[in-house]
Amino acid sequence: MVHNEKVEGLRIEEWKTRYPLLHKMMEMDEVFWTNPSYDEIAKVTFSVTPEEVKDAEERLRRFGSFIQEAFPETREAGGLIESPIVLINKMKNYMGSRYELDIPGDLWLKCDSHLPIAGSIKARGGIYEVLAHAEELARKHHMLQPDSDYSLFASDEFRELFSRYSIAVGSTGNLGLSIGIISAKLGFQVTVHMSADAKAWKKDLLREKGVQVVEYLSDYGKAVEEGRKQAEADPNCYFIDDENSKRLFLGYAVAAKRLKKQLEEQQITVDEDHPLFVYLPCGVGGGPGGVAYGLKLVYGDNVHCFFAEPTHSPCMLLGLMTGLHDRVSVQDFGIDNKTEADGLAVGRPSRFVGKRMEDLLSGVFTVADEELYALLRALRDHESIRLEPSALAGMPGPVRLFQQEAGRYYLEKQGLTEKMQKATHIVWATGGSMVPENIQEVYYAKGLETQGK
Ligand SMILES: *Cc1c(COP(=O)(O)O)cnc(C)c1O
Repeated sequence: MVHNEKVEGLRIEEWKTRYPLLHKMMEMDEVFWTNPSYDEIAKVTFSVTPEEVKDAEERLRRFGSFIQEAFPETREAGGLIESPIVLINKMKNYMGSRYELDIPGDLWLKCDSHLPIAGSIKARGGIYEVLAHAEELARKHHMLQPDSDYSLFASDEFRELFSRYSIAVGSTGNLGLSIGIISAKLGFQVTVHMSADAKAWKKDLLREKGVQVVEYLSDYGKAVEEGRKQAEADPNCYFIDDENSKRLFLGYAVAAKRLKKQLEEQQITVDEDHPLFVYLPCGVGGGPGGVAYGLKLVYGDNVHCFFAEPTHSPCMLLGLMTGLHDRVSVQDFGIDNKTEADGLAVGRPSRFVGKRMEDLLSGVFTVADEELYALLRALRDHESIRLEPSALAGMPGPVRLFQQEAGRYYLEKQGLTEKMQKATHIVWATGGSMVPENIQEVYYAKGLETQGK
């Protein structure tokens, strides 16, 4: 066992004394943690600036004409890659009986599971980073004028340029899918380094699109490391670094202002008396981190963001709680990083994201795999929405907030206890619309096994 080994100079037993929650985490039990460093917005320094997020929004707008030409399903939205929000009252009722709690406030689902092009939250960050890189190359080769129409990016001339460059990425599946699809469309040579958790259908789909897929028997960290090595050896290869990328982060952050517009269209108020709670599934951290960061820029103290992780892969929680960030992995504490939630099967968190979220994140909770399947089945039964297991991780959030002592204490401390009837809860559904039918059925069947729990 690992118990006598040291992590960053301290024995595991000493870490457990400092952070008693580790006892349950190491048992792989569900936990709910609130962030002691969470601070009011006036005291926070935003090291990624609002201007940088705005710049990313504008870049995506410029690419609208290319996107709608390359991906006709985005035409109606003018080439905007965006997903709807849906009120899920029936699911709320189901949860009410499953967990014996009437959730105060409204429950919405943000359907990034149904984002065009890649069917997951990775259609935000992944596509953005590839577009930013393509724009940079086109500028370098003097192929863009200040007033160029970006449908040029679909031309043979641009494809020829990009065919001389390559892109590499390490992924548990969905990032590879998103980057593989957009890169192949632009004409890049793409290599996706896939961890052992990546599902076979994701690899098959990429190969169909002409993407080179390299498979590893170990976890996500290894896939990233190999991708990085390959790229370093080739000056024409651009590596998308999921563990450190600011561009990915910015692509995700753009979601916030778009969500604000959607909430306004639904006449949902977010202010001091109407708090917004957002529950985001977390792997290495980039997706949920970018979105949450963007939301804090838009809504400040009135939004409360929680990350959700599998009980077997609580890497961001471990990194934030101990302050060790990427200097620690769940495996260091004997936690196995084996989960059916493939998109979240990450053992070591992003330092970049951890540092950005240190004082902005309200908390993190963990969810057992069986719970993900039961909720997957229920969401399909009650709302006819199909997700992949990872995408359900946020769902228990609104219940945990009220049922866990740490959650109630958080509400009390923030002066929110009396305001919760007017709260809006958004569960961020991060993937699922591209899952093949037969695999959906397997997921659904697994949900039945745990439904009676
Ligand atoms: C990647 C992914 C996440 C989490 O994003 P990270 O950037 O890895 O934290 C959540 N859900 C799904 C379905 C994903 O593919």
